[in-house]
Amino acid sequence: MSKRIRIVQKYGGTSVGTPERIRAVAERIKRVHDQGHELAVVASAMSGETNRLLALGKGMSSAPSPRELDSLVSTGEQVSCALLAMALNDIGVPAVSLLGHQVRIQTDSSFGRARIQSIDVSRIERAFSERCVAVVAGFQGVDDDDNITTLGRGGSDTTGVAIAAAVRADVCEILTDVQGVYTTDPRVCPDAVKLDRISYDEMLELASLGAKVLQIRSVEFAKRYSVPVHVRSSFDDSEGTWVVPEEGSMEEILVSGVAFERDQAKVTVEGVPDSPGVAASLFVPLAEASVVIDMIVQNVGTDGHTDMTFTVAEADAASTRAIAEKVAKSVGARGVSTQSGLGKVSVVGLGMRNHAGVAARMFDVLAHEHINIRMISTSEIKISVVVDNDKVDAAVRALHSAFLGPDAKAVRESA
Ligand code: ASP
Ligand code: MG
Repeated sequence: MSKRIRIVQKYGGTSVGTPERIRAVAERIKRVHDQGHELAVVASAMSGETNRLLALGKGMSSAPSPRELDSLVSTGEQVSCALLAMALNDIGVPAVSLLGHQVRIQTDSSFGRARIQSIDVSRIERAFSERCVAVVAGFQGVDDDDNITTLGRGGSDTTGVAIAAAVRADVCEILTDVQGVYTTDPRVCPDAVKLDRISYDEMLELASLGAKVLQIRSVEFAKRYSVPVHVRSSFDDSEGTWVVPEEGSMEEILVSGVAFERDQAKVTVEGVPDSPGVAASLFVPLAEASVVIDMIVQNVGTDGHTDMTFTVAEADAASTRAIAEKVAKSVGARGVSTQSGLGKVSVVGLGMRNHAGVAARMFDVLAHEHINIRMISTSEIKISVVVDNDKVDAAVRALHSAFLGPDAKAVRESA
């Protein structure tokens, strides 16, 4: 027998999408269990179920109570976990399903996007010691008042990593319907390749930039508690992508991924007085309205005035504009303009820290494709540009081939 380790496995919705798939997952779990490892499992709802429940709730009420909505949508995971525990029992693996409140996954009270505050590991530890597989419902928790809460879409990833952190697991496996984390979305760029390893920081950038494979909070948890995360397919045994603490050699790679997001809008407040407190007067009300702001650019002031431009999801453009217009009036700005139909394309890599020239190369590649850049923002390990929605695919393919394609090695060496 190989060395006994402690594993948390999280199975996504497609992996438990049908009774047959649940049986296949049970067989996979049995193989790990039979090797003597300590194993806890987190399951998502069967694919499509969370959407179905949300639609059901929204059909019942035009403004469903967030508390009741969480109570409703959390049931998807109750079903998949109970079915998985049954399937395990049927093949001789002792298993017990546990809901968020039964483990006691304590969260705050932000329904629909609750944050995990603590996890009581005693019930899961008991299962380990009894060689029983704890099958924990993903996505849900319980607040101080015993209300059921949910962690936001994709939240089962966070349940998985948080449990792995709490029980000090050797690895958290995220079992999904793709082979791992790719250099970009293979549906847009057929040359995309699976990454073997990636650092938490790069994964955080990729996750927040629209690569949907892991919920951002799960990566934050993994980083904070140094949980090695292995994103891999639940359909075969091939190695996936390890998301791990930074390693020295990682800095040699200039760009590890190209991420993108469509359907963005840009909002400009024009002629804002260039004085203290003006940015706060705009962004505080937007934050209070829970509008997620992405890039923010403030122009250099001229004549005591400046322009302030920021981006939001296109779906939030109308409500954002309404708030911005109110603020513009009250601070004496000239007006508000919006532009939708935009997308964002970003290159991410630790190597950018020490290498100049990545931005220049990126802009050059886009110029070659006649793609107009509407906004630019950078962080230590990322450069993002806003372009028109219909140019996103071309930009992704051109940047992928420049930085990650077969010819990219020359670029790396010259940079
Ligand atoms: N079932 C939830 C969702 O679809 C949580 C998850 O699958 O991670 O968002
Ligand atoms: Mg997911």
